Amino acid sequence: MNFFVTHSPLRDLHDKVAAGQRLSEADALRLFACRDLNALGALADFANQRRNGRRVTYILNRYINYSNYCILSCQFCAFARKKRDADGFELSVAEIVEKAREALKLGITELHIVGGLHPSLPFEYYLEMLRALREVGPHLHLKCFTAIEVLHLAWLARKTVRDTLIALREAGLDSLTGGGAEIFAPAVRAQIARGKESAEEWLEVHRTWHQLGGRSTCTMLYGHVESPADRVDHLRRLRELQDETRGFSAFIPLPYQPENNALPVQHPPTGFDTLRTLAVSRLYLDNFDHLTAYWVGLGLKLAQVALSFGADDLHGTIVEEHIFRMAGAPAGQLQTEAAMIRAIRETGRVPVQRNSFYEPLRVWEGDVPPGPPGLPTRAGVVEANLATA
Ligand code: SF4
Repeated sequence: MNFFVTHSPLRDLHDKVAAGQRLSEADALRLFACRDLNALGALADFANQRRNGRRVTYILNRYINYSNYCILSCQFCAFARKKRDADGFELSVAEIVEKAREALKLGITELHIVGGLHPSLPFEYYLEMLRALREVGPHLHLKCFTAIEVLHLAWLARKTVRDTLIALREAGLDSLTGGGAEIFAPAVRAQIARGKESAEEWLEVHRTWHQLGGRSTCTMLYGHVESPADRVDHLRRLRELQDETRGFSAFIPLPYQPENNALPVQHPPTGFDTLRTLAVSRLYLDNFDHLTAYWVGLGLKLAQVALSFGADDLHGTIVEEHIFRMAGAPAGQLQTEAAMIRAIRETGRVPVQRNSFYEPLRVWEGDVPPGPPGLPTRAGVVEANLATA
């Protein structure tokens, strides 16, 4: 047992985790109150390495926001614009396709596409976008839309959520993004995202998608007005749905970004709170295989440290990010593959390029030479042994 754990008040929880027993909500609350970050990190690292070994994954992906026009005005959101705003935008399908073509030259395997709830684009626009992208990259994974977008599209299409998802899948949709979960507790939700879908609606969209055989990720926006109990309630609901469907491929905690929005928060999440939140998530979500340290919100330096606090995934290259950048995140919009590989290797772990289902595509061995800025580095790659993944 790790020294930090044996000499900490978390020893009984270590025994529980080591025995494969599920942590209770009271246990999770106790972990959120823990000030012994070393002990907590060691425990989460133990749980992660038992599941994922020393592999840390990343994906070559590109974000595309088709529009930032939105009929809602969530208080925490710095991304949404109204038609009267000078910096609002919407992309034509041709423009989206051009961005996808450019990204394909960089070797990406996934497009991640979300936007606001556009006031006038018809349902056909979204179908056309998916069909056009499917044609450009038959093997490109199209990970698109948050749950609230799906509800908006269902309203546009005058269809049930299930039939809307089927129509989107037939047009090319491969998986749903995990955004928009925020915090499920109704009182907090009313404070930060009034008018948005309820927790039950968010969960139902993902449940329906999972029942159709689809996979998705899930998120939690933390560090604003919620309490530790609200966070535990959020994690509990995700764990319950995962028990039911097994459809979540990963959990991605998102630290709140405080700028350019209508939600006054005195103390946004610190590095300590971020590492603690990741560690508690890893320990409590015992039915999730993967936990992402989202470098856009954390910065690559803290994301790298998070690899010792239960995270086993760094997310992706992204290329162009608007949502966190507009809310003040300083991390930038692009991460090169070489930078992520170096960050992972420095921690003594093994970098693995993954696909959208977190399956390994390439395992990196040996030294990784620096690549030209913005371009992935390919030297030093060996094929993954898929059988041992
Ligand atoms: S969070 Fe999403 S739904 Fe809410 S205002 Fe922003 S873009 Fe619109």
